[in-house]
Amino acid sequence: MSDLKVLSVASEIFPLVKTGGLADVVGALPGALAREGVEVRTLVPAYPAVLAKLAGAATARDYDTLFGAPARVIAGRAAGLDLFAIDAPHLFGRPGNPYLGPDGLDWPDNARRFAALGRVAADIGRGAIDGYRPEVVHAHDWQAALAPAYLHYADGPRPGTAVTVHNMAFQGHFPVSIFGELGLPARALAIDGVEYFGGVGYLKAGLQLSDRITTVSPTYAREIMTPEFGNALDGLLRARARVVQGIVNGIDDAVWDPATDPVVAQNYSAVRIDMRVRNKTALQTQMGLAPGVERPLFAVISRLSDQKGLDLLLAALPGLIAKGGQLALLGSGDRSLEAGFAAAAAGRPNSVGCVFAYDEKLAHLFQAGADFVVVPSRFEPCGLTQLCALRYGAVPIVARVGGLADTVINANEAATAAGVATGVQFCPRSVDALSYALDRALEINADPAMTRRLRLNGMRADVSWRGPAQHYATLYRAIARPAE
Ligand code: ADP
Repeated sequence: MSDLKVLSVASEIFPLVKTGGLADVVGALPGALAREGVEVRTLVPAYPAVLAKLAGAATARDYDTLFGAPARVIAGRAAGLDLFAIDAPHLFGRPGNPYLGPDGLDWPDNARRFAALGRVAADIGRGAIDGYRPEVVHAHDWQAALAPAYLHYADGPRPGTAVTVHNMAFQGHFPVSIFGELGLPARALAIDGVEYFGGVGYLKAGLQLSDRITTVSPTYAREIMTPEFGNALDGLLRARARVVQGIVNGIDDAVWDPATDPVVAQNYSAVRIDMRVRNKTALQTQMGLAPGVERPLFAVISRLSDQKGLDLLLAALPGLIAKGGQLALLGSGDRSLEAGFAAAAAGRPNSVGCVFAYDEKLAHLFQAGADFVVVPSRFEPCGLTQLCALRYGAVPIVARVGGLADTVINANEAATAAGVATGVQFCPRSVDALSYALDRALEINADPAMTRRLRLNGMRADVSWRGPAQHYATLYRAIARPAE
């Protein structure tokens, strides 16, 4: 049986261009799916960082004009990934962040840039590249979500389509004036088409017109059908509930492997878990915290944004410190949160240490050295930090929301008695509830046998891409339309 062909479409892919978890997922799926008999090629914009890795790539298709100027699709391999890239200098020939200009604002032509991504994806889906015809087109997030819309309105055979929502907060909602440029038929500007609150909604269009919708955890799949989490698309999702599915993300368990990790102070595994403590000492030293293996060390590795709920932790922090806890924070983003944690560190340097940066390497030492990793998100489609924590034997303390609810087993009476707990969940998302959870963590910390049990359970949980890849493969097979 030949492999099923899937065209994955996204605006970022690790390790070529990344602003968040989306890139990790898009970069990891091809490898994981290859083991399931699925051949994934990924279509991305050829930003300078992508072009640099595709030197010498062949032209697979020319466009006389693509949203205002000539362009071409190139095909090549980089970082172990099979790629198509849209070489359109007028749209993507800009270094730095893929979405924002040097002023930190969205590029004013983002509607055009990402319509081009959807348009080219649909063309490839319909056989625009000689010798390549996918049976499924899988669009990630709003930037790719016009692909199913273009396919829906095109004549002739088309592949099956799926859209994955990585974060409902970003939707690609543009003024109606863009519609004339999209090249869609007039009837597409309708409530059951791409129209959205009087404008054009890219994610809305994808959710409306794709065969299947997935998001990155079962709990988030249910949550986004409610007004609280649906960002105004909950009604549409409820109407399409039968085709909505949650599939949790995985992590690369070769990159995240405490037994071989080259950047931690001490390698360890479940059978040598006692050696883990050397990483704690190294982390305390590096962060300027008071040494002491008995002091419970809490860590945060996160974007500092409202979503992540770190204002709750800032409010709960004095109580935690008063009870002997320490906090190491690695994160960047919101200036007022940075200022708040910086002030906490200045006031109690023995107990609070912060690095306001994005630092992949340091993140590994944080996971290897922390006793607890705190993820107090207000909403969390999946979350990767807690998966890394499980793998590294740091006990996650998480808000019971989205993917955090699906991946951490709360150490309540029943789970503890059954010996299956892996962390602590709290609910509602409030300072009081978080404070109780931190108290629970201190109780656990005071019980070495229980702490060990939780760490081992976490380390033995399967947080790899194997399970998720099987779910995606099953989904693709259900919607695949063979090339005619
Ligand atoms: P999001 O995509 O919303 O930022 P996720 O938890 O899905 O959140 O993925 C973020 C990933 O980036 C996690 O693996 C997290 O550990 C990592 N990360 C976040 N902030 C930093 C940082 N400052 N330094 C290093 N890694 C970070």
